[in-house]
Amino acid sequence: MSPPHLLILGGTAEAAALATALSGRLRVTVSLAGRTGSPTLPPGEIRIGGFGGADGLAAWLQANAVDLVVDATHPFAAAISAHAAEACAQLGLPRLRLQRPAWQQDPRDRWIDVEDAAAAARALALLGGRCFVTIGVQELAAFAGLLEVWLLIRLITPPKTPLDLGPHELLFGRGPFSLDAERLLLEHHRITSLVTKASGGPATEAKIVAARDAGLPVIMIRRPPPPSGPVVDSVEATVRWVADEIGER
Ligand code: NAP
Repeated sequence: MSPPHLLILGGTAEAAALATALSGRLRVTVSLAGRTGSPTLPPGEIRIGGFGGADGLAAWLQANAVDLVVDATHPFAAAISAHAAEACAQLGLPRLRLQRPAWQQDPRDRWIDVEDAAAAARALALLGGRCFVTIGVQELAAFAGLLEVWLLIRLITPPKTPLDLGPHELLFGRGPFSLDAERLLLEHHRITSLVTKASGGPATEAKIVAARDAGLPVIMIRRPPPPSGPVVDSVEATVRWVADEIGER
């Protein structure tokens, strides 16, 4: 009898850790969107690229005889999470959302909580100064009108098309980032504020601590709500769920 087939929707450190924990115990496929040119590849089978919406995902799940799905995508990847919920509901497949815990606010933090990138740009226009922006490339267009603020924009890989932005500098790097390096970066560029998504996770938390220590305001884009259905916040809890689903425990 062939082992159960698990699809992990990935693009995160948690997805890679889960694939490492489970490969050998069942058939694991990790799906990546293919946004970054040279992704860190987890173990197991890998497929890259969109499915073509919820219906495309449902068709793929059927064609590949998937038995269960873990949605371990980034907390801000709301579209693929919604598609996973819809496709699994259509097929009656078990699905779990693995979403990393949010960062905990410290009393010394000066967070400005905003809804989205457009609201972040409006908040930044009021602050002015020199801002460290770490929200990825997709929503940077929201900052296009900011001619009075200097932006230091950190991306994983160079953008595919030139960015139509006011004064800015690009910086490339993939986490984890150390606290010392983040402190140096803020000092070196004389940064006066930070814009980030409330992504959570240890790999990119050092910038939050560095901004706290420097007394800088942090414009924090809040998370979209998770899809309906069960949600866990750790790889360990996900491994237990998988074991229950495949009747291993
Ligand atoms: P999104 O807005 O939820 O998804 C947009 C489209 O990309 C989806 O409709 C789907 O295309 C495709 N897609 C997304 N994740 C996929 C996956 N794991 N496998 C196959 N197709 C996928 O997602 P996003 O915010 O663009 O993020 C894309 C990927 O980057 C995700 O895997 C996420 O985990 C990772 N990531 C995102 C962020 C972030 O800040 N958003 C940060 C770090 C990593 P189809 O409709 O054609 O299936």
